[in-house]
Order: sequence, then structure tokens, then C-alpha cells
Amino acid sequence: MTLDRAAIDRTVDELSERLIDLSRRIHEHPELSYEERRASGWITEFVESVMQAPVERGTGGMETAFRARAGAKSGPRIAVLAEYDALPEIGHACGHNLIAGAAVGAFLALARQAPALSGSIELVGTPAEEGGGGKIRLLAAGVFEGVDAAMMFHPFDRDVIAHPALSTMRVQAAFHGAPAHAAFAPWDGRSALAACLDTFRLIDGQRVHFRDGVRVYGIVTNGGQAPNIIVEDAACEFTLRAPTTTGLTPVVETVERCMRAAALASNVEVKIRREIGYHEMLNNMTLVRRFSAALSALGRSPRETDPTVGAASTDMGDVSLALPAIHPWLAICDEGETLCHERAFAACAKSPRGFETMLVAAKAMAHTAADLLEDPGLVEQARAEHRAARARSLHG
Ligand SMILES: [Zn+2]
Repeated sequence: MTLDRAAIDRTVDELSERLIDLSRRIHEHPELSYEERRASGWITEFVESVMQAPVERGTGGMETAFRARAGAKSGPRIAVLAEYDALPEIGHACGHNLIAGAAVGAFLALARQAPALSGSIELVGTPAEEGGGGKIRLLAAGVFEGVDAAMMFHPFDRDVIAHPALSTMRVQAAFHGAPAHAAFAPWDGRSALAACLDTFRLIDGQRVHFRDGVRVYGIVTNGGQAPNIIVEDAACEFTLRAPTTTGLTPVVETVERCMRAAALASNVEVKIRREIGYHEMLNNMTLVRRFSAALSALGRSPRETDPTVGAASTDMGDVSLALPAIHPWLAICDEGETLCHERAFAACAKSPRGFETMLVAAKAMAHTAADLLEDPGLVEQARAEHRAARARSLHG
């Protein structure tokens, strides 16, 4: 059955004031990863009030995750993903309040046509994108099993719809030396801090050998307690990123080698801990092209990617490894004006322009989902592309 595209746009327009209100409220009450109780409460209550049906809460065993579903029990299952967590100090400087509003709008636009759907549209509330990996926990809990495609949008300073997102990992080093009075007998001590600082210097010496696109950035998490004691315990932590998970392996090895070398030089012990981060984004081009056509029809002129702007990381990358997915970035300000995680970006995330982009994103995602729900061949094409991309990503 053909879905009414004009009716999709009409529903989003009809709901626009309430979607903006929802998004603004989330913006004004920023909540950190896994603490998004008010945001998830407002979103689920809003969806319930429009649908007149209950929304599942506590999805995947996470208090602030949720899921709503509309349409047929059989046929393709298409998910739109909402994020709603904020950052410490700078609030909604990543604009996740707009991601939430767009996902809700896209979902409700298709839910309104539920009897005509030859599959289902799902809204998945995914907590803790900012370092908490909420989507990874949802994947592990089987929430995406049987889902054929997933999409979301992310605010940015330009429209780039198949931009890369880097594979990431954290590496922590805890150094243990021997304390001594820093003036009476420094020769009796072995400094954990010296090893910690040497780690930074050694890594800097290796930067020239990193491949393009690699990012290594670290902080000292424990630098000692008093300047008159040779430091017994010190620690540092690094975030490592590379365009692919395979490309990340040699970077991890280099960083760990530097940590061990620094420990050797200071004759201290080191304990190294790896924490797996996010997978790189596999942009499903079958879906990207549909989204691009929908977005262009709404008056935007998206680029696939832009080498003049950097890339970050997202737990949507892990979703994209499991199933066909897209993560388009859309402008909420002028190009170069400000970027995610800056204070000025937080202001753009509650501006008329930000809300306008949110509504455009809702329509474009709903149109893309409609394309998939109407055409099983398109779903199969996206799946075939995903199988090949996944094999390349895992096995090089
Ligand atoms: Zn973000």
C-alpha cells in the first residue's frame, strides 16, 4: 500500500508546536547519562497522549530506555532512535533534545497511518550516548533483534548525511612506585608521577607514525597528593580513536607500549586497563540515498561527507554493525559558526533554526521509513549492503 507522504508532513506540522515544546523542555532540564528520568518521562507521556496507547518503559533493563511500536506485527521493522542525555557543565551542547523531538515526530507521523503500514515503525529511546553506550546495552539485551533498519539524525553546523564516525577505545594506566620525602631523601623514592608524565611524552613521540584520522588524547586522573612526597600512585587515561576498529589495534599497542616503557624508566609498576568504546559508523548507502532524496525534496542540499570537518564517535556505530543504519548530521547553525560540545552550540539547540531542522529531520526520516515499508526489495538491498560492509569492517 502506498503511504501518503503529504499526510506525513501534515502530521509533523500539526504536532510541531508540541514537539518544539517537548524539545525545549528537555533542553532546559539537562540530565546526564542514565539519569534522563524527566526527559524519558516527558517523551513517553507525550507519545502516549498522542497514540492513546501505552509505551514500554525500562526497555533492555534500563530505567530511562523505552520503546513504542505501531503498525503490523509482520513485515519490515524500522526503528527511529531518540537520544536525550546532556553533558556535564555545558548541558545540551550536543543537541540531543532535537534528536529526541525529531525521532518522536517521525514515529508519530507514521503511527498516524498505522493501518496502512505493511510492517512496523518503532521509536526506541536510547539513553546515555555521551560515554555511557546505552545503545550497546540495548543491543546486548536483544532490543534490536529482528529490526531491519535504524535511523536517527544529529545536529551539526552543516548537512552531511554519510559522515564517518570513528572507532574508539579508552586505555587507563595506574602506576605504583615508592614514596619518600621529596627533600630529605628523594633518592629513596620511585615516582609514579614521573612515569605518568613520561607516558604523555612517549606517546607524543609516536604521533608521526599514526595513520591519518587517528586521535589520541589523554588526561592525568591522579597526579599525587602532596608536592613534598615522591608520588607513590599516579594514573592517566587516554581516548584512542581511528577510522576503523582494525586500524585502532596498532594505536592501542603503541599507547600501551609507551605506558610500559615509562614504567620501566621510573622502575615502577603499571597496571593497564582497556575499555572498549564505540564501533565506527557503517553508513548504509542504500538508506542514505533515500534519506538524501527526502531531504532534498524538503529544500535542503545535503553533502554525503565533508573532509574539511573532523569526525567524532557514537554508539550508533555499534547499531550500524548489527543492522543497516544511518546517522545523518544536519545544520542547526551556519557552517563554521560553532560545533557540538561548545556553549554556542547549546544555544543553537534551542533556537528557531534548531527546531526547524528538527522538524525537517522528522519528515525526512518518516519518508525514508515509508520507502522501506513500501518496498521489501529496498529492505533486502540495504541488508545485502550491510552484510558486505560488516564483513569488510570485521575482517579487513
Ligand atoms: Zn551527540
